[in-house]
Amino acid sequence: SFGPNIFVESQWLPFKSAIDSHLHKTWSATSIVNGKAINEYEVDGTSQKLSVQTVRAPWNHEVSAGEVTYANAELARHAIDVAVAGQSVWKNVPAVERAAILRKTADLYEENYAELMALCQVEAGKTMQDSIDEIKEAVDFCRFYADEAERLDATAYEFTDLNGQQSRQIYKARGTFVCISPWNFPLAIYTGQIVAALAAGNTVVAKPAEQTSLIAHFGAQLMYQAGIPVETLQLVIGAGDVGGALTAADNIAGVIFTGSTQTAQRINQSLNDHAQASGELPVFIAETGGQNAMIVDSTALPEQVVRDAVLSAFGSAGQRCSACRILCVQEEMADDLIELLQGNMAELSVGNPLYAATDVGPVIDADAKQGLEAHIERMNAEPTARILAQTPMSTSSVVSQEQSTFVLPTAIEVKSIDVIGGEHFGPILHVLRYQARDLDQLIDAINATGFGLTLGIHSRIENNAEHIERRAFVGNTYINRNQIGAVVNVQPFGGCGLSGTGPKAGGPHYVARLMTLSTESSVN
Ligand code: NAP
Repeated sequence: SFGPNIFVESQWLPFKSAIDSHLHKTWSATSIVNGKAINEYEVDGTSQKLSVQTVRAPWNHEVSAGEVTYANAELARHAIDVAVAGQSVWKNVPAVERAAILRKTADLYEENYAELMALCQVEAGKTMQDSIDEIKEAVDFCRFYADEAERLDATAYEFTDLNGQQSRQIYKARGTFVCISPWNFPLAIYTGQIVAALAAGNTVVAKPAEQTSLIAHFGAQLMYQAGIPVETLQLVIGAGDVGGALTAADNIAGVIFTGSTQTAQRINQSLNDHAQASGELPVFIAETGGQNAMIVDSTALPEQVVRDAVLSAFGSAGQRCSACRILCVQEEMADDLIELLQGNMAELSVGNPLYAATDVGPVIDADAKQGLEAHIERMNAEPTARILAQTPMSTSSVVSQEQSTFVLPTAIEVKSIDVIGGEHFGPILHVLRYQARDLDQLIDAINATGFGLTLGIHSRIENNAEHIERRAFVGNTYINRNQIGAVVNVQPFGGCGLSGTGPKAGGPHYVARLMTLSTESSVN
């Protein structure tokens, strides 16, 4: 649900009072290594206090969410050694026991939903609906990967040759994984990466994005409470060179990364350099950015298209990797559709995410805001581009523009995909007209961006939708619906090309990728 008057305040009341009771809390986060919260760490033989920063709510910088203590590179390297040592214990914990702990984590996330929601709203600036979706997805990952641990453990491939020699192939854990997650799904992706690696019998060093350390810290506490041993999961709260120190370690089995394509390329380089030194190539799973289009032909239902495009482009303030960035509309319906789009955008409520009626909250921080506004300005100055609509801040939402990081939802008509540049990770939708005869050229231009994450198709001609789907190079296609919100074990999610390596998160190949197949042969 999205758009005006969708939220009926009374529906939220039972939740709201529970959440409100946590809103004024001040959280804190530190790294947790071998079960200990770390506030200081040795550098060159001398103990040094680690740097501490206050986290401000993105929708009101006068609100402090809490204090974060950032690790240094030495502590990151120590956390890896602790996790590597812990591997000998965790890999021998039976799969059913690992699964039970992950299911217990899911239960604890549900029991603590009010505090988790408050954290998502205060630290990440998420709306109520986004916060609920965030927790649901994290819970789904725990339960699905727990099932996967048991399924793979029960999977043995058996072979017999003509001489009676028998062989058996079984799944085994690989070692220690570094899990690096982004701020835009601060609980769901963070948890999904960790529990997948743990389900496989690996130990983990987790490094969440610096912007959402408080959420990650609370999530880790719930995981320990669920029974994840302290030597199995290490939490490194870091910024700057800390991520680089983790991925340069020469004793890790792999890296699970979600974030920008540029960072993935840097990590890939670091892993290659390391492989040249140690001779072993760690597993690298990277889920990265997108330049996602929605292609609309003239048979589509305009009202449905606009509803789905607005939700896909502006939901979560456009801060979803799957978000629609380019709405490609067949010329015959473009004028009508743009008019509807302008009307729909005018009704969006932009403002304080604590209000149940808010559709679009802030972007994560000042750097993000600056980059997005620079793009809007550049498009404004571009002769071939035209600003179609920009939704103002809601008048009922009392926030100061100076003390917050809001970017107004903006629609911009462009004449080509090239003029857009790369991914702009926020509430900006580009609109591109195309002629029916140029459809293949359009799909080729979308493919030529190199990204391949999501694609929306709106058409009532089945052959046309199928043709677009076959020609496009993307990981997830959505037909006659919005193109966000993949559900675990319903729509396994992940891109190709510059958008990711696979395997798809929330699908049947993910945990298996974190394991190795071992063949045992014997003669009877
Ligand atoms: P980011 O800047 O790439 O950061 C992601 C993570 O990488 C953070 O934890 C960051 O730590 C860490 N990092 C940065 N430089 C590193 C290095 N050299 N070595 C190791 N780790 C390093 O991405 P973001 O801004 O957080 O997230 C937004 C991006 O994620 C968008 O491009 C979006 O499309 C993509 N995304 C993709 C998916 C998907 O499933 N395909 C899902 C969500 C988001 P610091 O915070 O300390 O810098």
